[in-house]
Amino acid sequence: MRSVTTVIIGAGHAGLAMSRCLTERAIDHVVLERGAVANSWRTERWDSLRLLTPNWQSRLPGYSYEGDDPDGYRTMPEVVAFIDGYAEAISAPVETSTRVTRVSVDGDGYLVVTDRGEWRCRSVVLATGACNLPNVPKVADAVPAGIASLTPMNYRNPDQLAEGGVMVVGASATGVQLSEEIHRSGRPVTLAVSEHVRAPRTYRGRDIQWWMDRAGVLDERYTEVDDIVRARKVPSIQLIGTPARTTLDLNALRRLGVKLRGRLVGIVDGKAQFSGSLRNHCALADLKMNRLLDAIDDFATESGLHAESGPPTRFPPTEVDESPPLGMDLRNGEIKTIIWATGYRPDYSWLDLPVLDRKGQIVHDGGVIMQSPGAYVIGLQFLRRRKSALIDGAGSDAADLADHLESFLVGQSGPAWKLPTVSNPGVPVPSGRKVAA
Ligand SMILES: Cc1cc2nc3c(=O)[nH]c(=O)nc-3n(C[C@H](O)[C@H](O)[C@H](O)COP(=O)(O)OP(=O)(O)OC[C@H]3O[C@@H](n4cnc5c(N)ncnc54)[C@H](O)[C@@H]3O)c2cc1C
Repeated sequence: MRSVTTVIIGAGHAGLAMSRCLTERAIDHVVLERGAVANSWRTERWDSLRLLTPNWQSRLPGYSYEGDDPDGYRTMPEVVAFIDGYAEAISAPVETSTRVTRVSVDGDGYLVVTDRGEWRCRSVVLATGACNLPNVPKVADAVPAGIASLTPMNYRNPDQLAEGGVMVVGASATGVQLSEEIHRSGRPVTLAVSEHVRAPRTYRGRDIQWWMDRAGVLDERYTEVDDIVRARKVPSIQLIGTPARTTLDLNALRRLGVKLRGRLVGIVDGKAQFSGSLRNHCALADLKMNRLLDAIDDFATESGLHAESGPPTRFPPTEVDESPPLGMDLRNGEIKTIIWATGYRPDYSWLDLPVLDRKGQIVHDGGVIMQSPGAYVIGLQFLRRRKSALIDGAGSDAADLADHLESFLVGQSGPAWKLPTVSNPGVPVPSGRKVAA
């Protein structure tokens, strides 16, 4: 049994950002990781995926992009290298190949059991990510035999699919990206569309993420929105990161030949049933996109960026067939594969703390797990800010939570727990990146 003040579980960017913030506060800790650093990006993503956030927008505490392509979008090997480089640069105390199998209360602290021994700690940070499992709806149980079911976690590329038609369920970033790639491979795609968020890749000459960052949209606090429960469920924006900076919305997919259908509501007797809500979902997405663009235009005017930006424009509404079919036979051999791009959920099967709600989600206040003092969670959607689940959001959330954790430790037993203060936690890093002193 080993002892440490804080155990961080998970060495993705969020766990590493937390590690850096604890190091700055001289709080001794360990980061336990079941795989290698950046495990999710190494093992759970499809081959062609690039970040949909530009290079400049992956800022971590003391670490940022300084290459010559700030507006480019990282490939998966580049993301892994970036996060690996961060772990090295901050000398994060990561124990790899160490899977946490249980976390439980132990006196006034926690017992963390792993497949490589046990740890006792005063506080624990859950940085295991929000996307551990595919969120496949119940309707998948009724898929007829002979049709392969895949999720974005086990899809790699079109070569893995049988020849023939593919139904993609879900039209958020993942669903539209996979629909395009698979349709271009010669397999006709039908896309079941429900609530989605539409945005152009670029607007008035700049990346849409640049505008949202500058206008403060991504910094909105969890305490500032009317309905945080709903805000935490908003789907990812239909965006793709490509060197050509293309917009990938439903109009683009329709032009390619992808068939748009409503939300998949059931499969009965081998027949897929779609809701009649396609037109409404598209109209709502158009409306919300235009509201975002209005807000950006207002910001451009107020901030003096108006003159140096391109002219305001509005995009054609999403085109929908007059009467899109409400059913599709899944037994006639046309559809060979269904891809469930219906989101992800976290896996807390190893968490032995009374902190989950009825839906298995952690009950927390901006990452502070109130029912379990000294326990924190990071990396969830809209945890503390709209950008919380993005790489760019981890830094500010980690700093806030590290402050809280430090106060908790001081309150618990006075300052005696503290290690000697590190006067300069910054370290030199390979060219192209920097760690602040
Ligand atoms: C398809 C996809 C595309 C995305 N694109 C972008 C993008 O373009 N830009 C952007 O900023 N964000 C993007 N994100 C969102 C976000 O950056 C990722 O979800 C990110 O991986 C979350 O980081 P994290 O550190 O919270 O979790 P993760 O990166 O998932 O890290 C969690 C770590 O915990 C480990 N772990 C889990 N359980 C255990 C256990 N029991 N014991 C030990 N270790 C454990 C995992 O192995 C993993 O390494 C994307 C997400 C997905 C799924």
